[in-house]
Amino acid sequence: MSDASDAGETFDCLMCGAGVEGKPDHLGLCGKCRAEVVRRSTWGAAVPALVVVALYFWMLAATGMYESRFLMVWIALGAALAYVAFKVARRVLFEVIHSRGVRVRRNKMKKG
Ligand SMILES: [Zn+2]
Repeated sequence: MSDASDAGETFDCLMCGAGVEGKPDHLGLCGKCRAEVVRRSTWGAAVPALVVVALYFWMLAATGMYESRFLMVWIALGAALAYVAFKVARRVLFEVIHSRGVRVRRNKMKKG
């Protein structure tokens, strides 16, 4: 009978180089490093999202939209725009921070 469980399996994290139990994610990071990259990219993505919100509300003010009876719709639209900006920025930042943060260890060279 085959054993489907992965208990006891370890891998070397590509970022911190630690031998970690379990499975790496698709980028070869352990859970701790992945959480750190996600945390940094989330905070970084807040900046472009806020810029989008600021520009949007400035635009609403400049065009007199605050007088509009559809103000709630415009605000909802602005929130949606900020959300999209946040998601896109976080995705981009994740890749940037990940590629900068990875230090490939050279002590073991694999021959393929
Ligand atoms: Zn790690």
